Amino acid sequence: MTPKIARFLAGESLPSPCLVFDVDRLEANFRNLRRALPLVQIYYAVKANPAAPVLERLSTLGSRFDAASFEEIRNCLAAGAKPADISYGNTIKKTAAIRAAYAAGVRLYAFDSAEELKKLAENAPGAQVYCRILVANEGADWPLSRKFGAEIGLARELMLRAGDLGLDPCGLSFHVGSQQTRTASYEAAIGRVAMLFTDLIEAGVNVRMLNLGGGFPVSYRESVPPIDNFATAIMDAMTAHFGNQLPEMLIEPGRCLVADAGVVASEVVLVSRRSYNDPVRWVYLDIGRFGGLAETENEAIRYRIATPHDGGPIGPVAIAGPTCDGADILYQQTPYQLPIALVAGDRILLEGTGAYVTTYASQCFNGFPPLAEHYL
Ligand SMILES: *Cc1c(COP(=O)(O)O)cnc(C)c1O
Repeated sequence: MTPKIARFLAGESLPSPCLVFDVDRLEANFRNLRRALPLVQIYYAVKANPAAPVLERLSTLGSRFDAASFEEIRNCLAAGAKPADISYGNTIKKTAAIRAAYAAGVRLYAFDSAEELKKLAENAPGAQVYCRILVANEGADWPLSRKFGAEIGLARELMLRAGDLGLDPCGLSFHVGSQQTRTASYEAAIGRVAMLFTDLIEAGVNVRMLNLGGGFPVSYRESVPPIDNFATAIMDAMTAHFGNQLPEMLIEPGRCLVADAGVVASEVVLVSRRSYNDPVRWVYLDIGRFGGLAETENEAIRYRIATPHDGGPIGPVAIAGPTCDGADILYQQTPYQLPIALVAGDRILLEGTGAYVTTYASQCFNGFPPLAEHYL
């Protein structure tokens, strides 16, 4: 938590729960990433946190944007981005959305299938397109599975076809899965696409861009290697495969720019036990899976939790949200321990919640309003 957030929380009596986000921390994260990867163009993955103050600060810093819908594109433009700064990176787009993006001046699009390529040729004529390659997601706490990406053989065929359809097949992309903790996953993915890249050049395709996706991890309960390790692994792999003929390089970071800039303040609603001799206390918070903590599904993302009683004796807990849904449990398997002194009414802090929280909040499930947000 940053001093600015601490001061804000100390000074205000805020309705609970709420997210408090330090935009200066976002700026520091962006500058650090640009320092670590100076040859790489940064396209912020808007879905990680699409709030206007986030987009505006990034736009001021010269970031570009990876958008997944026309609505995200519109928000980027409203925040000061130029159409040329925006990549429409979702491989699943409605025809109407492609048309709207094209009319707004967006000229860079992702695809991973023949069907989507046809839609792009018809509704975004002459646009630059890049093919997303299916790569392994091992080592990712929040994998993107087989939902996206073409196998190498199909990708090769589609890149050739894109040219025939009047599009500009400019590049290749991959995503190694979110909260990817292994540098080796980037190395392996780069090796895979590098072979196809060379092959396409030999086949006469003017392929010149490699989009390395997102996935860069942040430290939640468990700490992860620093961003510099990922940067070094990426540049070493790029140099090993491309030598001095480095293609234009892009990344689409989301989580690593915004996660540690945000803290959710939540109130303890109830601390209870299932039976007299069960050592595990159930701690119910006023935020849960439906209040925005969707990434606790399968306990994939394990947030650090701070309480007013930290330093005192602790004991095992299960942690759940306030709704009447049995799926609204945050942690039951992960061995969380919280202070014995914790009682209803205490304010606890969920740290690292600046990414993938606010927009995952349900509209009004059980009557609970969407998460309040404060940007400092
Ligand atoms: C979600 C997403 C990202 C951002 O991933 P992070 O793990 O948050 O860095 C980047 N690119 C695409 C295509 C995505 O869907």
